[in-house]
Amino acid sequence: MSKKHNFSAGPCILPQEVFQKSAEAILDFNGIGLSILEISHRSKDFVAVMDEARAIVKRLMNLGDDYEVLYLGGGASLQFLMVPYNLMRAENGKAAYLDTGTWAAGAIKEAKNFGTVDIVGSSKEQKYSFIPKDYTVGSEYDYFHCTSNNTIYGTQMKSFPKVDTLMVCDMSSDIFSRVIDYSQFDLIYAGAQKNMGPAGVTLVVVKKSILGHTGRTIPSILNYQCHIDKESMYNTPPVFPVYATLLTLQHLEKNGGIAAAEARNEAKAKLLYEEIDSNPLFETFCQKEDRSLMNVSFQLLDESKKDEFDAAWKAAGISGLNGHRSLGGYRASLYNALPIESVQVLVEVMKNLK
Ligand code: PMP
Repeated sequence: MSKKHNFSAGPCILPQEVFQKSAEAILDFNGIGLSILEISHRSKDFVAVMDEARAIVKRLMNLGDDYEVLYLGGGASLQFLMVPYNLMRAENGKAAYLDTGTWAAGAIKEAKNFGTVDIVGSSKEQKYSFIPKDYTVGSEYDYFHCTSNNTIYGTQMKSFPKVDTLMVCDMSSDIFSRVIDYSQFDLIYAGAQKNMGPAGVTLVVVKKSILGHTGRTIPSILNYQCHIDKESMYNTPPVFPVYATLLTLQHLEKNGGIAAAEARNEAKAKLLYEEIDSNPLFETFCQKEDRSLMNVSFQLLDESKKDEFDAAWKAAGISGLNGHRSLGGYRASLYNALPIESVQVLVEVMKNLK
């Protein structure tokens, strides 16, 4: 059976080479006569995987020794509470959040359990169709939290504000997809299951100097410092997702790094947005200037064409095009591993819908 054109929002497409190599490692890892699934995480072969998986992130992001890289369980959703646990002061703690979508709102909900949360900008009343830009964040806040890419609504922050406090970013759905100055952030987190690897592991990149100032007692498993002290092996890490993530990042590095990925992602997004803009049957949900390069959420303007369109893209071998259940319509996720040929197939189907 031939490979489908996979537009899934996550878990999602990864490079074919990663599937191949990780399948091999499940059968025989590094030629040691054992599966990666049956060896100790303390074995020399796996420790080497973890060390390189941490090092490659810093290389790709151009970050120095002041940052630490962790691979944790619990998904990006656990970071919604680990961030305030570790960064919000125990007394009179206060954080600023940008409310740009469902996941940002999830982070806000958890942070409210720890202290005061001020929403400095929100597009909720306009169905999250844009990124608020007109706000300032002063030094009275323990940190500012934003979501770089809104996976459901298809909006993306094109630039980041200068704030007078720490800057924390949920990059789950656009990490490693574009060139940005990663050193402007004090903490970055991302569930792996889009541009990085399979579900089951979350990347955290944290500036060491920001930890240990809250006066809170933090349970060890939720304490970044404990994970740093144990080099991301405080407890048994999700070994297979970490390995597949390493393979994905090695594939990225080998293929020109983030800059080359960005150029490919821009070309894919341009192709699809141009079709949406020129085809009278389709429109996006969001404002043009905030359109995401990763998740293109769009809808049919003539609902009577739905059955025909759905049948046509399925017949063309396309998978994962339905929009998120909360928004409806369609969503084409154009993650790093999606080839431009898949976008060409989709655009052809859209052009042929009359
Ligand atoms: N943040 C963003 C931007 C997301 O897209 C998602 C999931 N798609 C999450 C957080 C939640 O991630 P997880 O399922 O790993 O908890």
